[in-house]
Amino acid sequence: MMLTAEEAQARLAGIPNLTVSSGAPLSRYTRFGIGGPADLYAETADAEAFVAALSAARASGLATMVIGGGTNLIVSDRGFRGIVLRYCAESLRAEGPRAIADAGAPLQTLVDFAIDRGLGGLETLAGIPGSVGAAVYGNAGAYGHSIAERVTAVRFVEGEAIRVFDRAACEFHYRESIFKRHKDWIILSAELLLDAADCAALRKTADGILSVRNEKFPVTMKCAGSIFKNLLLKDLPGAAAAAVPPATVREGKIPAAWFLEQVGAKGMRRGDIHVADYHANLIYNGGAGTASDLRALIAELQARVRERFGIELEEEVQYVGF
Ligand SMILES: Cc1cc2nc3c(=O)[nH]c(=O)nc-3n(C[C@H](O)[C@H](O)[C@H](O)COP(=O)(O)OP(=O)(O)OC[C@H]3O[C@@H](n4cnc5c(N)ncnc54)[C@H](O)[C@@H]3O)c2cc1C
Repeated sequence: MMLTAEEAQARLAGIPNLTVSSGAPLSRYTRFGIGGPADLYAETADAEAFVAALSAARASGLATMVIGGGTNLIVSDRGFRGIVLRYCAESLRAEGPRAIADAGAPLQTLVDFAIDRGLGGLETLAGIPGSVGAAVYGNAGAYGHSIAERVTAVRFVEGEAIRVFDRAACEFHYRESIFKRHKDWIILSAELLLDAADCAALRKTADGILSVRNEKFPVTMKCAGSIFKNLLLKDLPGAAAAAVPPATVREGKIPAAWFLEQVGAKGMRRGDIHVADYHANLIYNGGAGTASDLRALIAELQARVRERFGIELEEEVQYVGF
């Protein structure tokens, strides 16, 4: 039996340590600063409360979803009809070369934690916004490395059970994991195996990356990083592959930005949604942008690339409430 939002709110309100609100604008929880209200929004840093909330939300029969830092989300202007949950636990600990991080910890805090302890392997992920949980979910990465390389165990909730997967079971690929195909499996924590390394050298690498990134993605920019996934050369149809200058291919991948640039994406706009004039795979909200303009601009870019190259650009961002 499906509960009304009011009934579900009453059930959630009975869970200790859970903060519940109704009608919260999701624009507040997304870096794009876009998105209408969620019927219900609940968050907690307490694992027990989070698992109880997840279970109550599912039992309510209402649509349920979990968000992290909202840095990779496009939320509909109408918002989300159902319950949005956020797990904010952010403790970190090290056991020898292993780091164990709660899903709600900012990825950057984990990167800094590892660097401070002279543990190498995460420094190239410096500056990727968002939480550890979502980084595992989407196998976040940059500069030729992704978090999957270091993950040894992931603890997650499936229904009433807490399960643990090793790296192989997570089925990581480029910006993919098994969790993307099982959206009801919610990550609670991750364990990563790192290498002993020189703290100052790790800091230097991270600082270098951060300064490049901060120029490309100013910290106040309302965006989601890259909108589209890069393309694997091996997956491209022959004609499209042949059109790509060899120097553009890096680690077997072609930046989506290259295709977008060829179709004149840089500087395009729709309403207050803009394609950066210096980066064709970066779309930002000038302040008054809407999700409908954002989706329309994405569709227009996809259509142009499809027409010219016969390939489909796939979004890296995740849609909510459409
Ligand atoms: C300026 C900028 C630069 C970026 N650069 C990069 C980059 O270089 N490389 C890169 O990989 N990404 C990049 N991104 C994208 C983004 O940082 C990552 O996708 C990040 O992992 C999203 O984290 P989040 O906590 O904000 O997740 P959200 O946007 O809140 O959610 C993303 C998805 O994760 C799911 N999710 C969240 N928490 C959990 C959980 N505990 N268990 C299961 N599923 C969960 C959500 O349901 C949703 O589908 C960039 C984004 C921005 C804004």
